[in-house]
Amino acid sequence: MGMPKFLSIYVIENNGMRLMIDVGETLKSRKIIKKLKDFGLYPIHKIVLTHSHWDHAQGISKLYNSMKDLDVEVLASENAVENLKHPEKMIKGFEGFDEVYPFEGEITPLKEGDIIDINGLELEVLNLFGHTMDSIGLFDKTNKNIFAGDAAINRLDQDAFFVPLMPPDFHEQELLKTFNKLRDTRSDINSISLAHFGVWKDKHLEQILDEMEDQYFKVKDSLIEWYNENPSIDFITNKYCRTLIPNSKFWNQMFFTFNVEMMINGLKLSGLLKAETA
Ligand SMILES: [Zn+2]
Repeated sequence: MGMPKFLSIYVIENNGMRLMIDVGETLKSRKIIKKLKDFGLYPIHKIVLTHSHWDHAQGISKLYNSMKDLDVEVLASENAVENLKHPEKMIKGFEGFDEVYPFEGEITPLKEGDIIDINGLELEVLNLFGHTMDSIGLFDKTNKNIFAGDAAINRLDQDAFFVPLMPPDFHEQELLKTFNKLRDTRSDINSISLAHFGVWKDKHLEQILDEMEDQYFKVKDSLIEWYNENPSIDFITNKYCRTLIPNSKFWNQMFFTFNVEMMINGLKLSGLLKAETA
């Protein structure tokens, strides 16, 4: 979306092998290759997509084609395979994003418990459904970190957050299972790496694990209440910024309109908000 500090793309390197987590939008793929080269992280050998939302996965076709000579392996949840081939399914509810870039390369399907081996460093695949039904996390037990994609919470800075409630196939019950699963890893992790945005440790990690579920319900209940008061996105965003993220210096109403609109669409498409109640 051209916003700074919005999406994290991670690269893990071990004994000469590099794995990249998420690729961003299609517009970013040239920039990404340049950055990888600047950081000495090129070439890439494996790419894992945490889920099939456009802001994480849309760039895969272009990036893969730009790296054709490298024979990169692309991996994603077994549930993501069809969505990546037919991305039109996954942009429902994201108004204004009508360009799709189907991925025609081969995808290695991942399921719960699979191990991705990066020359001796093992990453365990966790199904973290709810945000989408093809969301996965990667659990690095050696370095005590979980790459959680969008599955837990989106914390853009210490004072700005939004929740995994997004179109088009949000499932609350599955999200609650994901929260439990993440809390169960507490004694085995020192950090959580969020796609939106960054790596959180120590008291911030504790706070995320302790508060993600409460924050989800607080946001959901507030959005429904405000929507019923006045369904205008500007009205709801203003309430959101003043009530839920009042201390954020950077993330303001202008930037949050999009996030709020998507959360409202997530509520509508999952049946949690009835449009006609307005
Ligand atoms: Zn997402």
